[in-house]
Amino acid sequence: MAMLLHALDPSLTLVIFEREARAAQESSNPWNNAGTGHSALCELNYTAERADGSVDIAKAVHIDEQFQVSRQFWAHFVEAGVLGEPSGFISQTPHMTLVHGDDDIAFLNRRFDALKPNPLFASMRFSAAREQIGEWAPLITEGRGSEPIAATFDAEGTDVNFGELTRRYLAHLQADGVRVYLGHEVTSVTKLADGSWSLRATGVRRFGPLPGRAKTSDPSGTVLVKAAKVFVGAGGYALPLLQKARLPEIAGYGLFPISGEFLVTNDPAIVNRHNAKVYGKASVGAPPMSVPHLDARVIDGERWVLFGPFAGQSPKFLKDGSVLDLPKSLRIGNLAPMLTVAKDNLDLVRYLMGQLAMTPERKTEALREFMPTASPHGWTLTTGGQRAQIIKPQPSSHGGTRPHAIHGTLEFGTEAIVSADGSMQAVLGASPGASTAVPIMLDILARAWANRLDEWTPKLQQMIPTYGTPLADDASLAHATISRTAEILGIEGPAW
Ligand SMILES: Cc1cc2nc3c(=O)[nH]c(=O)nc-3n(C[C@H](O)[C@H](O)[C@H](O)COP(=O)(O)OP(=O)(O)OC[C@H]3O[C@@H](n4cnc5c(N)ncnc54)[C@H](O)[C@@H]3O)c2cc1C
Repeated sequence: MAMLLHALDPSLTLVIFEREARAAQESSNPWNNAGTGHSALCELNYTAERADGSVDIAKAVHIDEQFQVSRQFWAHFVEAGVLGEPSGFISQTPHMTLVHGDDDIAFLNRRFDALKPNPLFASMRFSAAREQIGEWAPLITEGRGSEPIAATFDAEGTDVNFGELTRRYLAHLQADGVRVYLGHEVTSVTKLADGSWSLRATGVRRFGPLPGRAKTSDPSGTVLVKAAKVFVGAGGYALPLLQKARLPEIAGYGLFPISGEFLVTNDPAIVNRHNAKVYGKASVGAPPMSVPHLDARVIDGERWVLFGPFAGQSPKFLKDGSVLDLPKSLRIGNLAPMLTVAKDNLDLVRYLMGQLAMTPERKTEALREFMPTASPHGWTLTTGGQRAQIIKPQPSSHGGTRPHAIHGTLEFGTEAIVSADGSMQAVLGASPGASTAVPIMLDILARAWANRLDEWTPKLQQMIPTYGTPLADDASLAHATISRTAEILGIEGPAW
């Protein structure tokens, strides 16, 4: 959001607060997320099967359209000389989907048939032949029994280091005069009589190396700011901040924290033979973000392979949060929605309990479904990022209103919140989060800065040449756009 606003009107005074001493230590850190440039090239959860067996591709098309907007935004700033060498944050990594058994193979084939005619998916390939799948990803087929498998493959896929991207954004903004306060936690947000906001950010003093266990507030580092508009991009702490601000729009909202764990290796015998992100099918009850995947990664110039995620249990809303985060977020208005979510999602509860009970041996077995020759040696279990999934209140069937909603639904996407007067905006939730952050910010911009949108449109079109124009309906525009951004970002262009 700061990158957008600063580019659109450099005269705006922007101030950024980050509670950690370094940027991108939470979800955006490359070790805390899977780094997938989510573009629906491999994630089965973006294509639902209808009752008649046909495949609904609307969500997949939407996600890919969103990713093409992010790519154009990044390409613009690479061309402007602001983001440095793009290989430092994005690398070409083919996206694959792998399924087992006749039913899933038939579904994958129908999914491929539904997606392939769309220009956004024109470079996708399908195969049920071992030799072909083994050519795409040898570790998938080696040592595998005779059960039927099939895969799709798309060379246009990407791996993105969102932490590096975040740090480059901040370095640019800081160099351009934006005030960035690292090690400053926003502790109070208050609406003033004139409609603006008063923010207090307290300095955070840490003992020991990051991530520091012990920390204390440093009143001498306190910064007070009066702001016409506030954007809350605080990850899992966004909801607590909106609660402090008493924003009526989030009455009844709650959060459901799930931590993620990954098996990782940098064993040359593995990383040099696996260069794809291979997504499978989620187990019954598993939330969409828990789809297992064997991922090639490039993190700070080094190649890794990661498998997961396994769900872990933590009541914190941030990795560097507090065990009191969940209890402190409870309000009279969100208790009922949170309880109904537990009642209505028994499959999810069973899935999470199963995950928590998983032994290291069972985690290796899960890995072997993707890489049959995997041995437990050389793989390390790491804790990834903390997800704070949204529990959204639903009006009761008797016409109840949000604050007294008795029903809640668990949402797995990212939700943009904008206050009625546009003065406070926030993002809640996670996936596909980082990949689609640019279009999500554009949506917030249109709602919160509506009075300046006409004036800003030419500049937006310069940054994102297809701004407002869908690519899926225009094959030549899609081809030209994907080719252009691929060339600037140093990744694979369309193979069609
Ligand atoms: C396990 C996992 C896997 C994922 N995989 C992918 C993926 O493959 N592809 C993808 O696109 N997305 C993925 N995501 C989602 C993606 O990581 C997030 O959507 C994205 O990183 C969110 O960015 P953010 O800047 O909003 O939040 P964050 O990166 O969490 O940043 C929020 C920042 O706010 C700071 N903060 C919080 N409260 C305060 C306060 N009061 N004062 C000052 N600072 C504060 C925090 O310290 C933090 O640095 C994944 C997420 C997880 C957890």
